[in-house]
Amino acid sequence: MKKNTVLLVEDEANIVELVKYNLEDAGFKVLTATRGDTGLDTARKVRPDLIILDLMLPEINGIEITKILKQNEKTSQIPIIILTAKTQEADRIVGLELGADDYVTKPFSPRELVARVKAVLRRKHEVPFTKILHAGFLILDTAKYIVTVKGKSIELTSKEFDVLKTLMEANGRVLTRDFLLEHVWGYDQSANIETRTVDMHIGQLRKKLKQESARLVTVKNVGYRFDLD
Ligand code: CA
Repeated sequence: MKKNTVLLVEDEANIVELVKYNLEDAGFKVLTATRGDTGLDTARKVRPDLIILDLMLPEINGIEITKILKQNEKTSQIPIIILTAKTQEADRIVGLELGADDYVTKPFSPRELVARVKAVLRRKHEVPFTKILHAGFLILDTAKYIVTVKGKSIELTSKEFDVLKTLMEANGRVLTRDFLLEHVWGYDQSANIETRTVDMHIGQLRKKLKQESARLVTVKNVGYRFDLD
């Protein structure tokens, strides 16, 4: 079976050594980078199965890297687990808002990190149940992660895609911000994310959906709904 490749971007040598050893022991192929710029280069060239990303890095920090990778459709589907210090709560929240899949707080046990890596990859590899959702000129393919409007592909981040998919699947029902937070970001993380994160993603979606954006309706003091046809 092909080994999953994990890219570890971390500038502390002892953490690199510890994590690399434990991941290799668990059967992963591990690539490492000790600076933000080289980490970003490797991520783009190799497109690993998963990235473990420290936030405080020389040259380009982890937040910038997350932003760049999640905004490019070639790299937006690569899961990212961010490594943060306890004192970096604000950065951690920003990282998750930008589309990072999980986080681990330093100091951490390597065993816990390996378990998180496996869990994130398991979620990624679940065979998606293909469903094509339509609304006017908008088509969303749940398995291929493709959204088009009038046949033109729309670039969405993975969280924007999930928000749109959840709303479309609700078939016109109103969903609260809390429901969307729990559903898209997961219950564990939703406690750490503010509801305005949902509003921010809705705002981005409205811009990107162009002539179909009016279907995304704000229901005052409640949440959002998406009108199909
Ligand atoms: Ca660091």
